[in-house]
Amino acid sequence: MRILVTGGAGFIGSHLCDRLVAEGHDVVCLDNLCTGDLRNIEGLQGDPHFRFVLADATAPINLEVDTVAHLASPASPVDYSRLAVETMLVNSLGTYQALEVARKNGVRFLMASTSEVYGDPLEAPQGEDYHGNVNPVGPRACYDEAKRFAEALISSYQRIYGQQAVILRIFNTFGPRMRREDGRVVPNFILQAIAGEPLTVYGDGTQTRSFCYVDDLVEGIYRALTVDAALGEVINLGNDGEMTILALAEKVKEITGSHSEITYMSLPEDDPQRRQPKLDKARTILKWEPKIGLEDGLRRVVEWFQESPA
Ligand code: UDP
Repeated sequence: MRILVTGGAGFIGSHLCDRLVAEGHDVVCLDNLCTGDLRNIEGLQGDPHFRFVLADATAPINLEVDTVAHLASPASPVDYSRLAVETMLVNSLGTYQALEVARKNGVRFLMASTSEVYGDPLEAPQGEDYHGNVNPVGPRACYDEAKRFAEALISSYQRIYGQQAVILRIFNTFGPRMRREDGRVVPNFILQAIAGEPLTVYGDGTQTRSFCYVDDLVEGIYRALTVDAALGEVINLGNDGEMTILALAEKVKEITGSHSEITYMSLPEDDPQRRQPKLDKARTILKWEPKIGLEDGLRRVVEWFQESPA
């Protein structure tokens, strides 16, 4: 297959490109590098099955492909606050352009949506039928509402054009290639612990998240790209091992052997209090299961940060 991956130089996108090329597919990786990084795809450059296109996903794209995977978007709260307008545009106009490539080629479209469509959820765990609790004018709205718009646009393409599509709601994911300045909790805590600096817990640390290692996530994306039963479905992908942020801080300290203190800082506005995916649909439709435990995953990221130049 020839697959367009928008955001292919990003954290998750580059791991997906690696996997697709390893499976024998041809990949066109499109990225404007606003949060992506060429170092993430340096192992693929020069491979005849891989082509990098420096472009913004909001511009019209003319390509002949067999599948479109739309992953382009800033994804860290720090990034999408800084790049609020870009975030809104890549998930609205960018989704439209990517959908048009899929429609014109008559091929499958995969959307990297997010658990943020559930906002600060009033239900836990979150199943795909939960409609969410999003503040439309808060600091996270640029990401949450743009992803919700994208889901609505895809649903309209499905109804009007019979577009083949699968929407993945991706929960917290971590792994190598997260940027040092990404701002999300896993790189922050690991880098702070390694440097012997205080671990910055926002709020009282009782808020929860459920962390999925990137290889597990990419396996789920790969299945969603190739399994026919996924078409027309909205599917949560992540790990359902819920934990508090304070427990994560303790775990990172334990794994790194760090004597860093824990310091408490103010909780960002609209920070979700609980987040845990229901994974029944991923398990039955994709026959998928997250396999890599939190400790194992964290150790791999610690090693990666220690080995990769600052
Ligand atoms: N967080 C934290 N310290 C940090 C960064 C994040 O306590 O240095 C908290 C943040 O407030 C949130 C959770 O960790 O409750 C996960 O934040 P992250 O930015 O990783 O992703 P989110 O799930 O909020 O999109």
